Amino acid sequence: MINPGDRNMKWLDNMLVQPGSKVKLDEIDPSWTGPFKSKKEAHKETRKVIAEMDELQQVLYADNSQALLIILQAMDAAGKDGTIRHVLGAMNPQGCRVTSFKKPSDEEMDHDFLWRIHRAVPRYGEIGVFNRSHYEDVLIVRVHNLVPKTVWSKRYRQINDFEYMLARNRVRILKFFLHISKEEQKERFQDRLDNPDKHWKFSQGDVEERKRWTDYRDAYETALRKCSTREAPWYVIPANHKWFRNVAVSSIICRTMRDMKLNYPKVDLDPAGIVIPD
Ligand code: ATP
Ligand code: MG
Repeated sequence: MINPGDRNMKWLDNMLVQPGSKVKLDEIDPSWTGPFKSKKEAHKETRKVIAEMDELQQVLYADNSQALLIILQAMDAAGKDGTIRHVLGAMNPQGCRVTSFKKPSDEEMDHDFLWRIHRAVPRYGEIGVFNRSHYEDVLIVRVHNLVPKTVWSKRYRQINDFEYMLARNRVRILKFFLHISKEEQKERFQDRLDNPDKHWKFSQGDVEERKRWTDYRDAYETALRKCSTREAPWYVIPANHKWFRNVAVSSIICRTMRDMKLNYPKVDLDPAGIVIPD
């Protein structure tokens, strides 16, 4: 068994979509828990990882020369909001920004599909989280034929080019697909119906989208296959267990931030020569 504290963290690579490889979501167990045998074990690791992430974020902010963009995509009720709350809520809000992408406004529709996305890319020193993203333009748009196939089918290449450009301009990109089973989604919808405090989360539209589960699955599989690149990799996160989802996402973010080789800026300052007046 792999020690969860092992800094190699090979279990994380199990979730990486190797560039160019085919993804069969039905063959990926959404209840997988990696090296963790219990919720308690995973929580312990999550706490450790989040503390390190918090420190790394401070350096990212001070360093002010790179940005981190985290993209979250999933079927409804897979836990995008919960991931943001648990994993990113722990970080310093100064230097962290979440953008949720809904159905495009009239103004957004008057531009190319990446216009609103580019405007929301985090500035250097910051972490940006996309709750949904430009991938909607090859997901819901494809499933509902909102534009002809000749238009959406060209977008994979356009997305890769766009993400490549960002990566070459010091925007590090991580993309997470939160993977739940169809049964788990049903249970979560039912829980929302049974619990009056969760009624606000329930949407009739989500039930309609559920009927198109296999169309969405196919659309996700294409996006994962065509758009997982060295510069902007996709990870498929088994998300039936929220505690595993949290430890997996936070560990991947932390590993990536470590890899960004962040440093506090060297400042030409001689503290000995400065006297702070009384
Ligand atoms: P979420 O469902 O992400 O938790 P929400 O329930 O608060 O958020 P919704 O009103 O469901 O908000 O907004 C998201 C909806 O907008 C989704 O159905 C999504 O597919 C749709 N959407 C996002 N981007 C696009 C796009 N480019 N074109 C069409 N629809 C889009
Ligand atoms: Mg919704």
